[in-house]
This record gives sequence, structure tokens and C-alpha cells, in this order.
Amino acid sequence: MQLSNSNLLQKNLFINDDWIEANDVFDVINPATQSLITQVSNGNETHTLLAIEAASTAFKSWSKQTALYRSNLLKKWFQLILDNADDLAVLLTTEQGKPLAEAKGEVVYGASFIEWFAEECKRMYGETIPTPAGNKRLMTIKQPIGVVAAITPWNFPIAMITRKIAPALASGCTVVLKPAEDTPLCALALAYLAKEAGLPNGVFNVITTTHAAAIGKVLTTHTLIKKVSFTGSTEVRKILMEQSSATLKKLSLELGGNAPCIIFDDANLEVAVKGAIASKYRNAGQTCVCANRILVQKNIYPAFIAAYIQAVQTLQVGNGLKNDTQIGPLINKEAVEKVQHLLADAIQKGASITLGGNIHDAGALFFEPTIITNCNNEMLLSKEEIFGPVSSIFVFDTEADAIEIANNTEYGLAAYFFSNNVHRIYRVAEQLEYGMIGINEGIISHAEAPFGGIKQSGFGKEGSKYGIEEYVTTKYLCLGIHNE
Ligand code: ADP
Repeated sequence: MQLSNSNLLQKNLFINDDWIEANDVFDVINPATQSLITQVSNGNETHTLLAIEAASTAFKSWSKQTALYRSNLLKKWFQLILDNADDLAVLLTTEQGKPLAEAKGEVVYGASFIEWFAEECKRMYGETIPTPAGNKRLMTIKQPIGVVAAITPWNFPIAMITRKIAPALASGCTVVLKPAEDTPLCALALAYLAKEAGLPNGVFNVITTTHAAAIGKVLTTHTLIKKVSFTGSTEVRKILMEQSSATLKKLSLELGGNAPCIIFDDANLEVAVKGAIASKYRNAGQTCVCANRILVQKNIYPAFIAAYIQAVQTLQVGNGLKNDTQIGPLINKEAVEKVQHLLADAIQKGASITLGGNIHDAGALFFEPTIITNCNNEMLLSKEEIFGPVSSIFVFDTEADAIEIANNTEYGLAAYFFSNNVHRIYRVAEQLEYGMIGINEGIISHAEAPFGGIKQSGFGKEGSKYGIEEYVTTKYLCLGIHNE
């Protein structure tokens, strides 16, 4: 891997501003070539305890700094990330697989949360409350909650981290991060740049590890941790919630999705095809907001599917480091097997492969851009996240049918629909049971907007003016006024 700033490739744990080597290491694999990139320190419970104590000590001073002081340091960090964007993108593509252009986009998007919350923390306003009693004055102040544990997934190795860390640090919290074992290098590179920016000792700590369950247990049961922010699967969410209950930690949970993407007959087909592809095939279909079910109105189905096949056929599969690549590898063998399993189940229940359907010639973890038609609600792919470059196509008759099919899932993260009818746009947007709705648009995430789901997709918002609220408590002050 060629980096112009080789310091970005760090291999040890980052605790209390020091790089700590563990006795044990684990492999980081490039999914495109399945070759070893490097080995990194495998943190254990003892390291985690050290990190929590460091973060707790740091909280005492960090939380008392002015918002302006924290903001200025965060802005330095933001700038350093942008200055190193090309290298970070190479690192990201190498450990995660996504095309370089997407990786660069993620670096900039990830950094934008740091800039956004560096500003938002200056506006952490309390309130004065009109008093109900003449001799009292009522007000609120916002205070950081304490040490935060962040547990993040591999599909956005930079943005999933900054979305949690930026509001936490901006508000005055300190952090222990456990990144995903598949993508520890971006997390360590972010820590390196945070150190360069001058973040004080212990404010941000990173434990890379393969012992997720053991470290997760420490983070969710330790009394010094006041908040856990998690992005990942429902199975792990259940464990973390249960473990967090004894010490009653505040939680933010970003879980899976099952996004419908509805193409109504009054849509602009060109816009719909482009939007559906952008949502579906980004990161080879490995995002929790990817269109998981494409619902097409019956009377425009022939026109839509013809245009869609034509467009999907042109997607270039290959190593993300190659310039023309649009679809990289899946993250690992299990991911490929899951896609194959969902396709086999759907075919057995009556669906047909219209395009692709196989492992791609580029290598064992690459999957062909696939379109599967005749899908219905009996199939597993209508219930589970596909997390691969597979469009599953459902056909519907009326607007009411579309809404019913779309809402027929336990998840409620993102939904998309395409229509040029303003009345329908309001009707449908209000009836879809999802936290985020893309209307005539397939890419919806921005630091300025509230990201988050409802139902089994979790709770808590990331980004926007709401994101920082997850890391603060509102303290009420009642001041008695006495005649001296
Ligand atoms: P995904 O399917 O996206 O990999 P996971 O929920 O398995 O989702 O992983 C998301 C994050 O949760 C990763 O950092 C992973 O290491 C971590 N994780 C997995 N199991 C546990 C656990 N038992 N306790 C704490 N964290 C865990």
C-alpha cells in the first residue's frame, strides 16, 4: 500500500495519547486480493480498563474547557483529515474494498461531522423558563454526559466513527472506541490525526480487537461509562442493551434497515433508475440504507426494468483501487455466502435472475451486479438485509399496495420513492414508517441532517442539531431570590 504519509498506518492501541503494543496481534485483510495488509495489536479487557480510566481522568478537564477551545481543536483535526484525504481513501479502500471515489467521498463526509459539531457545540444553549413563582428563577444548562463507548461497523470505517466521536468530543465527553475488527486501520489513522491536532491525553482512545464480546462486556458494564453508541446488527444490539441495563447507560442504536425504493408510474424514469442504482449499489450494496426492495408500479414495469437492466449492466466490478471500478468486493466470505443463500431461497420460491447472480471473475469476494425479479414477501430477501449488489424487484398495483408492502417489515431506517406528483409525495412520505425518506433522491446522508431509524432500526439521531443531544444531559437549576 502506497501512502504519502506513512504515519497514517498505525498498528497499536491508542490509549491516553500513547501507542500501546499488545502481546497478541490480528490480521487485517484486503478483501479485493484476500492478502494480508498488516497485523495490528489485539486489545484485551485490561487495555479497555486502562482506556476507560484515561478517558475518565481526561473528562474532568475536557468537559470544563470552553466550547470554543474544543471547537478549535476539532477544526484542526477536521483540516488534517482533509489534508490527508487521498491517503485515507487508499487506506479505506484497501481494508474495506469500496471504490476509491466512494472512499474519498466517505473521508470528506466523515470529516464533515467533525466540522459540523465543532460549530454546534458553540450553540449548546440552555434556557430560561418563565417562572411560576415570584421568588424563583428557573433555567437549564446542557452538560456532557461523561465517558462514551462507541462500537462501530466495517462498512463505513471512517464516517461511522466520526458521526459518534465528533458530537461526543464537541460536547465535552471523552471516548473509548472499539472499531470493527475487519477495518481497524482507518480508526487508528483517525487517532493519529487527532493526536497531531493536539487533542489532550485520554480524550479519544481506540481499542482494536478481535475480542468484541469481551471488550463489549467491559464497555457496557463499567460504571464509568455513561453512554454507549452502537452501529451494527440486531443480534449484538440485544446483548449490548441487556448488558447496559444494570448500570442504566444512555444508548444510541443504529441497527439494520430494509429500505423500500418505490417507483411510481408518475416518476421521471431516468431519475428513478439513477436514484435506485445510487442507493442500491453504493459500497456494493453494503449499507444499512441501501434499497433492499425495489417496488415498481405494474403499468411502468416493462419500461423501468428495461432501463434498469441496461444501466446496471454497465457497472464496472473490480479492485476499488482501479480508476474505473464502481463495485468492489464484499467484505468477506460470509457476506458472499449470505447473498448466495438469499438468492437460492428466492429462486426456490419463484423469483428469477434477470441479470448476474454469480461470483464475479474478479475474485472470490466479488459478486456480479444482480437483478432478481418476481420477488414477493415470502422470500427471505424481503425480510433481511441483502448487503450485496443485488436488486430485488417487486411489482405493485396501487399506491396503497406500495405503502403496505413497504411498511411490512420490522425495520424502519430509510425508504425511497420516486414520483412527480406533489400530492402523492406528501401522502406517501407521511405514511411510510421510516426515520428517513429519500424523495426522487437515492443519496440522503449529510452531517446537517438527522440520521436514524424507528422500529427495530434503533433510536437516537446522528448528525444535525439533534446529534449532540445524544451526548448531553439537560440540568435544571432553580434559583431562589431573597431580599437581602
Ligand atoms: P455487522 O453485521 O455489521 O458486522 P455486528 O453487530 O456484528 O454487525 O458488528 C458491529 C460492531 O459490533 C463491530 O465492531 C463488532 O466487532 C461489534 N461486536 C460484535 N459482537 C459484539 C459483542 N458481543 N459485544 C460488543 N460488540 C460486538
